[in-house]
Amino acid sequence: MKVGVVSDIHANLVALETVLAEMGPVDALWVCGDTVGYGPDPSDVLALLAERKATIVAGNHDRAVARGEDLDFFNPPAAVAAKMHQRWLSPAERDMLAALPRTLETNNVTLCHGSLRDPLWEYVTNPRSAAASLALARTSHCCAGHTHVPSLFRADGRAEPGRVRYDVAYALAPRAFLNPGSVGQPRDGDPRAAYAVIDLAMSTVTFHRSPYRLEETQRRIRERGLPSIFADRLAFGL
Ligand code: ZN
Repeated sequence: MKVGVVSDIHANLVALETVLAEMGPVDALWVCGDTVGYGPDPSDVLALLAERKATIVAGNHDRAVARGEDLDFFNPPAAVAAKMHQRWLSPAERDMLAALPRTLETNNVTLCHGSLRDPLWEYVTNPRSAAASLALARTSHCCAGHTHVPSLFRADGRAEPGRVRYDVAYALAPRAFLNPGSVGQPRDGDPRAAYAVIDLAMSTVTFHRSPYRLEETQRRIRERGLPSIFADRLAFGL
């Protein structure tokens, strides 16, 4: 069974479409939160994920848009974008976002946005915090997002934080905490969209990057009147 793993799409439809096309056929699609916030096309992203029958956990931006939750923690332009998305989405779309679980177990993997200690807000950027989440997991592995940086931490200490290699299969054994990086707002200095594919039979994960028409997303962000910083930073992946 092959599973596409994506996170932090942030309403960037062009990037999501490119990633799904490059990923090719998969048996399941897992989304580690932050489907909305920042970007120009929240409704279209939610529709495409529904069409692909994606398994989704809540991110802090999903909660902020759906329920106004924790908006005080957002920097000013992020809060402006979240409130705009709140207005653009239909009640049914907001209800769908509000109902997303904070964590979810599937196929011996726990999905969350931040960590298992703090599913909405903790940034897992080092082996210690990854190990703390794995200690709380009832599954062998965890997939998360939130940092917008692809990373892999394994329980045997072989960590690849922020510098995973692409198109290379990594063994998940014995236990792994992985982050596929961000589809729609990468923050590791690489503007390409990030995703990962897990092969459950082989127990491996492979990270990938896809160039996409980011100028089109930038144009849409400006056209919709979102804070221009979210367009500008796409060019740098920061
Ligand atoms: Zn995010």
